[in-house]
Amino acid sequence: MLTERTKKIKPSPTLAVDSKAKEMKAKGFDVVNFGVGEPDFDTPEHIKEAAIKAIKDGFTKYTPVGGIDELKEAIIEKLEKDNKIKYKKENILVSCGAKHSLYNIAQALFGPGDEVIIPAPYWVSYPDQVLLNDATPVILETYEEDNFMIRPELLKEKITKKTKAIIINSPSNPTGFIYNEKVLQEIVEIVLKNNIYIISDEIYEKLIYDGMRHISIASFSEEIKERTIVVNGLSKSHSMTGWRIGYAAGPTDIIKAMTNIQSQSTSNPTSIAQKAAVAALKGPQKCVEEMRKEFEKRRNYLVNELNNIPGISCKMPQGAFYVFPNVKQILGKKAGSMEINSSMDLSIYLLEKAQVALVPGSAFGAEGYIRISYATSMENLSKGIERIRNALEGLQ
Ligand code: PMP
Ligand code: GLU
Repeated sequence: MLTERTKKIKPSPTLAVDSKAKEMKAKGFDVVNFGVGEPDFDTPEHIKEAAIKAIKDGFTKYTPVGGIDELKEAIIEKLEKDNKIKYKKENILVSCGAKHSLYNIAQALFGPGDEVIIPAPYWVSYPDQVLLNDATPVILETYEEDNFMIRPELLKEKITKKTKAIIINSPSNPTGFIYNEKVLQEIVEIVLKNNIYIISDEIYEKLIYDGMRHISIASFSEEIKERTIVVNGLSKSHSMTGWRIGYAAGPTDIIKAMTNIQSQSTSNPTSIAQKAAVAALKGPQKCVEEMRKEFEKRRNYLVNELNNIPGISCKMPQGAFYVFPNVKQILGKKAGSMEINSSMDLSIYLLEKAQVALVPGSAFGAEGYIRISYATSMENLSKGIERIRNALEGLQ
């Protein structure tokens, strides 16, 4: 018999949409995939070269569980330079992707009786990782009019004696919005007053537009740094999703516990990928800027086009590679005998009728929205938009 824990969770909806789109493509359907959040660029050449060199040099054995010193040092340098936070090697753990870092955190910190505050819209894996550890996700609603940032007074209401942590994600998947300094400062005060932890997922930090700035919440003070675990990785910034390198930075005791968990589960992240990650962090960053610029161009195009489709309203996101348009005006409409009453109905309709794959807002705890990933070519964006426009015109 399966454990109760496994019955509480579901497969990642974003990955599920992606496999459904790929399955349809394999069957010969011309699907436009706006589903998964994965950069469509190739991994930059100098990063690949570093991996090839690692293989040729025979760097193909176990490494220390928490990552090689060279990579930890590159991460420390990055965190100090980009985020103004100072760490030592014992504060860093390299894992098999940021998702794995988050999983290790959940294993180390959450257990029965613990509550973890998750602002919605949230990234799909947060609630399930909390559930996997028999803790309780407490969903905190945020609002489009606030750019989906937490309202501090509502956060205070959610805190109980059982609250262990809050998970924040800026720039956000799925909304693309960034927390501003004022709201971050208010979160810091609430966290310190209540002695809880912050898990700060900063994986989209390098994808920011209109000259905006990313601020790491751990940089506010030494005190808050002691209550924060920063999560980041190379998947999005350097188009390295398949390499599986992510990392966490935080207090020594928590990182040590997470490293022990990793030593009893995956052991080290792939040796070759670690060498590639060193090259990514220490090598030229021009490639990151080039990808960012291309994403910005796509975002501008997409938001403009979406706002010209009746029934859709789309705020301009500030980062990541998602738009999260409001589709509430479409809900309640009919396509023949099919009623579109939810973002899931709309996503199914668009997949079947227009062969456009996207993720319903409900997967992120936000009904009335859909997530479109623009990590795809301009050509696909324009094709997909045209199809959405035509499919929605048929609704009554
Ligand atoms: N956090 C967020 C918000 C994400 O969108 C992703 C993308 N899957 C991750 C973490 C995990 O990324 P990875 O495991 O590829 O490093
Ligand atoms: N973060 C990506 C997304 O949200 C990858 C999918 C996943 O890891 O669930 O689409």
